[in-house]
Parts: sequence; structure tokens; C-alpha cells
Amino acid sequence: MSVETQKETLGFQTEVKQLLHLMIHSLYSNKEIFLRELISNASDAVDKLRFEALSKPELLEGGAELKIRVSFDKDAKTVTLEDNGIGMSRDDVVTHLGTIAKSGTADFMKHLSGDQKKDSHLIGQFGVGFYSAFIVADKVDVFSRRAGLAASEGVHWSSKGEGEFDVATIDKEDRGTRIVLHLKSAEDEFADGWRLRNIIKKYSDHIALPIELPKEVTAAEDEEKPAVEWETVNRASALWTRPRTEVKDEEYQEFYKHIAHDFENPLSWSHNKVEGKLEYNSLLYVPARAPFDLYQREAPRGLKLYVQRVFVMDQAESFLPLYLRFIKGVVDSNDLSLNVSREILQKDPIIDSMKSALTKRVLDMLEKLAKNEPEQYKGFWKNFGQVMKEGPAEDFANKEKIAGLLRFASTQGEEGEQVVSLAEYLARAKEGQDKIYYLTGETYAQVKNSPHLEVFHKKGIEVLLLTDRIDEWLMSYLSDFDGKSFVDVARGDLDLGNLDSEEDKKAAEEVAKSKEGLVERIKTALGETVSEVRVSHRLTDSPAILAIGEQDLGLQMRQILEASGQKVPDSKPIFEFNPAHPLIEKLDGEQSEERFGDLSHILFDQAALAAGDSLKDPAAYVRRLNKLLVELSV
Ligand code: ADP
Repeated sequence: MSVETQKETLGFQTEVKQLLHLMIHSLYSNKEIFLRELISNASDAVDKLRFEALSKPELLEGGAELKIRVSFDKDAKTVTLEDNGIGMSRDDVVTHLGTIAKSGTADFMKHLSGDQKKDSHLIGQFGVGFYSAFIVADKVDVFSRRAGLAASEGVHWSSKGEGEFDVATIDKEDRGTRIVLHLKSAEDEFADGWRLRNIIKKYSDHIALPIELPKEVTAAEDEEKPAVEWETVNRASALWTRPRTEVKDEEYQEFYKHIAHDFENPLSWSHNKVEGKLEYNSLLYVPARAPFDLYQREAPRGLKLYVQRVFVMDQAESFLPLYLRFIKGVVDSNDLSLNVSREILQKDPIIDSMKSALTKRVLDMLEKLAKNEPEQYKGFWKNFGQVMKEGPAEDFANKEKIAGLLRFASTQGEEGEQVVSLAEYLARAKEGQDKIYYLTGETYAQVKNSPHLEVFHKKGIEVLLLTDRIDEWLMSYLSDFDGKSFVDVARGDLDLGNLDSEEDKKAAEEVAKSKEGLVERIKTALGETVSEVRVSHRLTDSPAILAIGEQDLGLQMRQILEASGQKVPDSKPIFEFNPAHPLIEKLDGEQSEERFGDLSHILFDQAALAAGDSLKDPAAYVRRLNKLLVELSV
């Protein structure tokens, strides 16, 4: 061992300590994955070197074959991984192996429950990487040197995973990283050639560079110990370049875990080779679970980009629209230049056409999943439905396709579950129904019981119930589906078209005529509070309701804008009343103008409450109501 200088002891960032503690306990049943994680890092390090060496060939330092070596020592109970990739400088080691750079980590840690089973899923989502070494080791030594630095600028990192680590500067002749795991005494089974070989075959066969193990050679008794011979144990070819028919599902799954840093299998994948004007391979995956930072703006997204098998860029975002940011995968292009940059990608017309082709692939894959695996699609929708709802606004060209993938709660679906597709809705629509009806609101309970649905219940017409925060905004981008237009049942003058018989319409007109006097009286009583007063066709049980003007913002949008501190344009609702309701009949017969006014205001306020809105002047409401209650009880 060479001399160590500038030795210091540093503490792990709090989040690392939490992660280490949790991981050791919750991943115990799946401990062999430590090797997959470390090999995955080594492979990334080689990819990075290969890429940097394109512009700085001297980084290759003579150019030995790029590879990963795994060895073990049964007596010392160690497993050693060595790569000749990009390596790390002293600063790199301190930041990369002492902190977690992912944004939102502290937030994520707060969500952990302490329940090991649940947390092990969460931790899988988070990705544990290097730190998984401590599942099997009670001490880890890392020796590394960054490519391009002098041999004297090597670094030794060492830790027992208990809160601190040591770093020292050392001499390291060869570039790259060597990690020595000192196995816990209960884990010495891993210091075994067969065991290691099996784990590598199982999890890392898809790694595109050779992973070597020492060949088992038995020396003749009187001979000296022979020099180690190495043999490659994995297939060592880029998985996405192989023909689809030759790649097993398990290989696709393990490859996904490598590129996505996920612990779980993906829901689905799509592997394609495109030839012709543009040539590229793509392999796209739908994860089973949303990453913890799906809604964080700066969270990493995008595909891994290769150009003619050479890794060029992680998180290349230009290949898919934002609403498909959860898709993981690889693109390998034959047309792009090896020194392509993010800025170039954003402007290159080649990328535009790849983007639209890849987007279509993803949407097709989701369509297929929905059709063939409806249960899995339900899970997909729970995880990613909210993000898919950003689609129609962002991707005009695919609006109809995205709309087909949307799922909603409805008056006829499973209680509160977003499972009804638009196709399903239309398939069971009423004879003569040429509209898709929906209602938006704050909560499922509120919309489900909304008076706006009364006439729909009576006629047995299905209404979609939309309660996600972005729903009203989403609907402003959807005007129709399959030739049928969307109608917000709380908006404007509800026209049921062919669903109302001629007699119904005639009768409604007559009632409206006979109530013209009452309409005027209420208008005077409510004054500036309303934009219009009219007889309702929507109600069977409730006395009154508020409708939104055709062009006005709905409640949800208003609340979102208000919450973000924006000025919301003033709009007044339309007051509709149900002339058959006993309260309205009473109102109609009321002689005292004062009491008429009080009752009108109470009905207005109640209608606002039923719509989930808050009252402008709650004290006035209580005062009026109490006044009536007192009059009632005398
Ligand atoms: P992740 O791989 O998700 O970024 P890890 O905790 O596994 O997280 O690794 C942290 C960082 O440490 C990596 O991003 C990389 O920069 C560095 N690293 C880990 N292993 C190696 C290695 N074998 N060679 C070079 N750098 C490495």
C-alpha cells in the first residue's frame, strides 16, 4: 500500500446517514443487488470515459480494453470491483460518496414510514446506488483516480457506513476505480466465484462491456500459484442492438433497472430499429411506479443518448415531450454527430422528427397496455394519470390519441375510481346522445352529490366527474372526442339536445313563460350578485343552483389563480331555480318584499355552498337564516 497523505475524516450528509440506516434494514432480503448497483456505476463510469476521450484521446492512457473486473478473497472475506472508467478526483469522492445530490431528497426521507416493507419499495424508487455496498459490507474501501490526473492524485475513501468516512491522497498508477468490500461475517458467502458469476449473469448480463472474473484454475501441487487468468462472464454487447426476438424478458427487465436506477420491473417496453432516412435504435420503458420527484421541475428526465453505440448524454430531454417525462430508455442514433450538445439537440430538425416518432411509440405502447392489460393500466393511470393530463395542452398533434388514454371517474364507474375511458363512455351513451357530459369540482363527494346532476340521474345519462386540480384546465384543451363535443354540465344554458323530448321542451317553455314575473322579482332582489336569473331544466330535487357563464372561469381555475396570487377577472354566476320546489313556490307567494329578499339571498348562498364555493358574506347568510328560523318558531 502506498503512502497516504492529507488524510481527513468527514461526516456524511444527514440524508446519507438516514439512507444507509434504512437501506441496510429494508433491503436485507434482496442483498445480492449490491453487485448490480456497483457494476451499473462502473459501466456508467466507462461510458463517461469513452465519451470524454472522443475529444481528449489522451484520457485513454495507452488504451487498454475497457472492462470491469470482479474478484474475491475467501480468506480475507473481501469482494473487489475494479473498472478502468473515468474515475474520481478527491473532490468527486467527497461529494459523490458523502452526499446525495438528488433534489428533494430531504423531502423524500420525510415520507419514509419506518415500516420496512413499505420503505423498501420507496427506497427502490429512490435508487440506492453505491451505498448498497453497506448491505453486505461493514467496511468499504474505494481507491480511485480520475482520468487525466497525475498518478499522485489518487484518492482513498474508506468508511464503516456509520456516519463518517476517511479520505486521503494516494498514488494510483492506473486510472479508474477499485472498490473493496469487507464482508460482514454473515455475508461471506459472497466471496465465492460461483455465487458472483450467478449474480452477474442474473442481473448484469446486458452490460455492454466485459465483466471478468478470475478463471478457476487448479495448480498442480508442486507448482507455484499460477498467474490469474480472467474470463468474461457476461454477454458484453449492447442489448438494444440485438434483434428483439433474441432478447429475453428478464434481460429487458434487468437492463431497465440499470438505466432507470429502479428496483422494480417496468410495466412495459417497446424496442425498435428504425431504418431509412433516419437510422436509430430505441428502447423505451414505462416504469411501474412514479419516481419520488415526478413533479419537481428540475428533476432529471429524458433518455440515455448513444451515437453509434457510444454513450453521449444522460437525460437527453429533447426526444420526448414533457408529459412523457416518466418514460425511461435509450436512443442510439446513426445520424447525429458524436459531439452533439444539448443546445444542438434543441434545434436539430432530425431530433424533431425522432421526437414525434418516439412520442407515437410511447402512446402506442400505452394503448396496447390499456387494451391487453387493463389491470396494469389502472396502476399506470394511478401513478401517471395526472402527468398524462398535461398532454392535450402540450401535444396538439396527438390530442385525440392522448384523450383516448385518459381515464375518469363517472356517475356510472367504480366509486370514485378513475377508470372510465371516453370510448367506454360513448359506447354506453344514450340513444341520440351526441355530447360527452362532465362536471368538475373540488372533491368526489361534492361533485357526486351536486344538484347539477339531478336531471342526468333522472334521465340515466352518464356524467364524468372530474376532481383533479388540473381537470378544468385540461378540459379547456379538449373540445371533442370521436366527433362528440364535451359539455360542462355546470356551465351556460344546459341543452340536452335530442335527449329532451319535444313535449319536455314545450312544457319547459311554458313554465318559463309563466314564471317571468318571479324571475324579475328575484333579479331585483339579488341585484348585482348575479348576471342572470332563469328557470332551470337541471333540477328535480333542489330549489336552486348556480351556473357558470359560457365564457367564465370555473371555480377550480379561479381558485388556482387566486392561490398563485393572480388577479382573477370578476364573473357573476347565473341563478337558476326549480319552479316545482316547495320553497320556490313559497317564495313566489311571498308578500313581504323584505322576506322575499332574505329568502332569495339564502337560496343563492346555499347554491354557492352546494357548488363547493365559499360565501362572500357568511355573516349575512347566518343573520338572514336565523331571522327566518325565529319567525318560524313563533
Ligand atoms: P447514482 O449512480 O444514482 O448517481 P450512486 O450513489 O450510485 O448514485 O453514485 C454516486 C456518484 O458517484 C455517481 O453518480 C458517480 O459520479 C460516482 N461514482 C460511483 N461509482 C463510480 C465509479 N465506479 N467510477 C466513477 N464514479 C463513480
